[in-house]
Amino acid sequence: MQEYKKIKVEYICNLKLRKTDMDIFKPLNLQKDTPNVPNIVKIEKVRCLIIGSGPAGYTAAIYASRANLNPVLYTGLEMGGQLTTTTDVDNYPGYPDGITGPKMMEDFKRQAERFGTDIRFGIATAVDFSGKNHTVTFDDNKIIEADAVIIATGATAKYLGLESETKYAGMGVSACATCDGFFYRGKDVAVVGGGDTAAEEATYLAGLCRKVYLIVRRDVLRASKPMQNKVFKSGNIEILWEHQMVDLFGENGVEGATLIKKKGTDDEETIKIKIDGFFLAIGHTPNSVVFKQYIETDQVGYIKTVPGTSKTNIEGVFAAGDVQDPHYRQAVTAAGSGCMAAIDAERYLSELK
Ligand code: FAD
Ligand code: NAP
Repeated sequence: MQEYKKIKVEYICNLKLRKTDMDIFKPLNLQKDTPNVPNIVKIEKVRCLIIGSGPAGYTAAIYASRANLNPVLYTGLEMGGQLTTTTDVDNYPGYPDGITGPKMMEDFKRQAERFGTDIRFGIATAVDFSGKNHTVTFDDNKIIEADAVIIATGATAKYLGLESETKYAGMGVSACATCDGFFYRGKDVAVVGGGDTAAEEATYLAGLCRKVYLIVRRDVLRASKPMQNKVFKSGNIEILWEHQMVDLFGENGVEGATLIKKKGTDDEETIKIKIDGFFLAIGHTPNSVVFKQYIETDQVGYIKTVPGTSKTNIEGVFAAGDVQDPHYRQAVTAAGSGCMAAIDAERYLSELK
C-alpha cells in the first residue's frame, strides 16, 4: 500500500495563525517537468477538475463521479467550506433533526468518496484558460490539465478594514464565533453586521457570553425573520441600532470599542463600550481572484454564468455555489448549482468526443 504524504500547513484563519497537519488523501503521482525547475511538476491530465470542497464542489463531485467523469477535487484551505465554521444547520432538507455544519460536510465528502471522487488537498494558485486545454496550477507546483473545470471556490469573510482589526488579530478579533466563542465564555463581546451571519453569531455567543452587543449600521436588520426573532428573544443581546465602528482599544488585547451613533445627523454621538471580543459578521467576498484574468465577474467579483446554467464565458469552465451567487448563498442552492455544473460538464464532455 502506498504511504499517504503528510504536509505541514500554516494558514491564517480568522486572523489567527494556525498550524495543522493535513493528509493528502491520495498520492499525487506526478513527475517533475524539467530538472532545472525543481518545484514545478509535470502536467497531469484529467477529464473533470473540481475546485472547492463546500456543498457545491462535493455535490458536483457526486454527480460527476456517477457519470464516470473520474473527477479530481481539490479542497482548498477550508476543507468542507464555510459550513465547517458553523454549529447547527437546520434548513438543509434531509436532516429533520438538524445537523452540525462540520458533520454535514463530512457526510458530503463521504458520499463523493463512495462514488470514487479523487479528493486532494491543494489551493489553485494560477490558471490558464486561453486555449482548449484548461490548466490549473495548485500550490504553485502541480499543474492539472482538464477538459472540464468546475469552479466552486465559495466566498470568504469580510473585514471592516480597521487597523485595529490587524493589531488585535488573535487577541480579541475574530470572524468566526463557532471557532473562537469558547474563549469568551462569561465575557462581554460585540458582533458587527445585520445579516443572517451576524444574527446567528450573536445568538450563538449569547449562549456563552455574559452580554453581546450587536452593532448594526442601519435601523433594520437584513437577517431573515426567524433569525431576527432568535436575536430579539435572547435576554442578553443588546442591539446598537445605527452605530458604526470607529476603532478598538486595549492594552494587551481588545478591551473596548469606539462607535459613532447616528453618524452625520444632529444627534451624532461617540460612545465607548467595554468588550473582550469583537466578531465580524459583515458578509463575504467571492473567491474568484485567481480566475479573473479569464472569467467574467460582476463588480463585486461574483462569477457571471449564463442564466439557468453553470456556464461561464469560457467553454468547458463552469461555476457553482456562492462564488457565482450574489443572491441566495445557501448550502442547498450551492449544492443545487453543483449538480447543474456536473450535468453541464458531462454534456460538454460528451460533445467533445
Ligand atoms: P464554500 O462553502 O464557501 O466552499 C468553498 C470551497 O472552495 C472551500 O472548500 C475552499 O477551501 C475552496 N477554495 C477557495 N478558494 C480556493 C482555491 N483557490 N483553490 C482551491 N479551493 C479553494 N447556509 C445554509 O443553507 N444554512 C445555514 O445554516 C448556513 N449557515 C451559515 C453559517 C455561516 C457562519 C456562514 C458563513 C454561512 C452559512 N450558510 C448557511 C451559507 C453556506 O455556508 C454557503 O452558502 C455554502 O457553504 C456555499 O457553498 P460553496 O460550496 O459555494 O462554497
Ligand atoms: P449579508 O447578507 O451580505 O449581510 C451583511 C451585513 O453586514 C448587512 O447587514 C450589512 O449591512 C452589514 N455590513 C456590511 N458592511 C458593513 C460595514 N462596513 N459596517 C457595518 N455593517 C456592515 O451577509 P451574511 O449575513 O454573511 O449572509 C450571507 C448569506 O449567507 C445570506 O444569503 C444569508 O442568508 C446566508 N446565511 C444563512 C444563514 C442561515 O440560514 N442560518 C446563516 C448565515 C448566513 P446592511 O444591511 O446595512 O447592508
